Amino acid sequence: MIIRDITAPNPGPFTLNGTRTYLLGETAVIDPGPDIRSHVGAIGRAMPKLRTILITHRHEDHAPAAVRLKRATGARILAPHGVLDDKVVDQRIRDGEKIAIEDETLEVIATPGHTREHVCFLTTAGDLFTGDTILGEGTTAIFPPDGSMRDYIASLRVLLTHEPKRIFPAHGPTREDAVALIEQYLAHRLEREKQVLDCLAEGARSAAAIRKRIYPDLNFLLRRAAEIQITAHLIKLAEEGRVVEHKGTYAIQCAAQ
Ligand SMILES: [Zn+2]
Repeated sequence: MIIRDITAPNPGPFTLNGTRTYLLGETAVIDPGPDIRSHVGAIGRAMPKLRTILITHRHEDHAPAAVRLKRATGARILAPHGVLDDKVVDQRIRDGEKIAIEDETLEVIATPGHTREHVCFLTTAGDLFTGDTILGEGTTAIFPPDGSMRDYIASLRVLLTHEPKRIFPAHGPTREDAVALIEQYLAHRLEREKQVLDCLAEGARSAAAIRKRIYPDLNFLLRRAAEIQITAHLIKLAEEGRVVEHKGTYAIQCAAQ
């Protein structure tokens, strides 16, 4: 199946060059993107036979264009629970479900973490559409409580078991080194987790104190985002019983006697 893409005109710090809307063959799109009239028009012109709109997760830069696109083309919307309104979605998709698109079959893989409802789509050829679970460059933002570092790391491990060949991310370049990229993503998070534990062992008690040790010279605008990522790690460690939280301060859990 031929895979094309159209990048939405919404570049930014989280969207990189903009949202990449993928066109599968002649009849399906993944992540129609933000509701920008020119972008929806470009998808409509490129896909006169559009029948199926697939969505990875509910964020503003991925899902909203589906509504206008459906109105213009009559295509059906397939999305996990939590994405758009029930009235506009034709089918709620779940982990393990298979979706026929022309001569291909897409498998739905639940990948909670970036958001709780996030799914990826895998073709039989090993092409993996990752939404915001894996980006073509940089890292994915995990914002608790909707985002969960524990779920996210588990989702990366699930993706590895599928041994994908190529990654088509919603932001950033297509990657031919799918397994290596996922392994790199996993190693990066586990390394950060170890740094957080080391900082706690050295006496840091808050996300801000840990951030100062890990990134002492961070630009003011990026500090908050970094502290949220560290908080996501702290919540994961607390959920696993490795860290205790008390009124916003954290400490390593001492082994029980
Ligand atoms: Zn997102």
